[in-house]
Amino acid sequence: MVEVVLSSPRGFCAGVVRAIDVVEECLQRFGPPVYVKHQIVHNPYVVAELEQKGAITVEEVDEVPDGSLVVFSAHGSPPEDFEKAAERNLRVIDAVCPLVTRVHNEAKKYHREGKKVLLVGHHGHQEVRGTMGQAPMTLINDSAPLSEQDVSADMDWPADSEIAVITQTTLSVGDTATAIGAIQERFPGAVVRNDICYATTNRQDAVTQMAGLVDVVLVIGAQNSSNCNRLREVAEANGTPAYLINGPDEINPDWLVGCQRAGITSGASTPEVLVEAVIDALDPEKVTFLEGAEEDITFTLPRELR
Ligand code: SF4
Repeated sequence: MVEVVLSSPRGFCAGVVRAIDVVEECLQRFGPPVYVKHQIVHNPYVVAELEQKGAITVEEVDEVPDGSLVVFSAHGSPPEDFEKAAERNLRVIDAVCPLVTRVHNEAKKYHREGKKVLLVGHHGHQEVRGTMGQAPMTLINDSAPLSEQDVSADMDWPADSEIAVITQTTLSVGDTATAIGAIQERFPGAVVRNDICYATTNRQDAVTQMAGLVDVVLVIGAQNSSNCNRLREVAEANGTPAYLINGPDEINPDWLVGCQRAGITSGASTPEVLVEAVIDALDPEKVTFLEGAEEDITFTLPRELR
């Protein structure tokens, strides 16, 4: 490889740093095992590192032994998970990202105001599960036109209905704008919040800038990471072949045939050590660092750990 071009910003966001710190802090203060409901963040390397230190990842609250300490993941959890934990006498520390909590609060507020709440997001994603538990709402898939929604029958409401729109935090900026435009066309008075977070927006802007400069884009991150998948899609939408890989072992040499420049970015849950490993594997003659938005956001730990 002649040259590697590195996108900026990339990698960990403030919510991911905080969630990992929560588990680390619990392990230090209370000792292992510390149960974690759902992957603390969507990256197998991060999860494995914490498990080596004594974290135990489970998918359901029911899997946590009675009376244990459990950390809830950064993606946010529905109220039923807190209720189940209380019934089992579990000690819960919630590592939900504060920007996701903000979406939960908005959903509850709009519901209290009597509005019908629409959530633009991906069916089945952990964040969507947590948000949908906060209040009655209808899910709009961000990548399908409103007319093709399988939930459209549920939205057979008059055009002047009181509608509030919220979004998942890690969506494609472009697809979400399209979905919101379609909703506004159907419900012109809809109150719209775009909850795509700063980290998602900045990483997508950066990969858009980079895609035009390189022959191929490698997105480092996990297949189940929403923001990593969106980065790959954004690069492809800009006309550059893009691949999502966990690390150097997954590089397919065929992707690089004839390429002079490979662009690299990583999702908000990807540790920088994996980016470095991919650069080492490519062994470029030159590494170019692009400049992008400065990020100085940090979040304090949950009250129980301060
Ligand atoms: S991607 Fe955004 S919403 Fe998700 S944890 Fe990071 S800062 Fe929070």
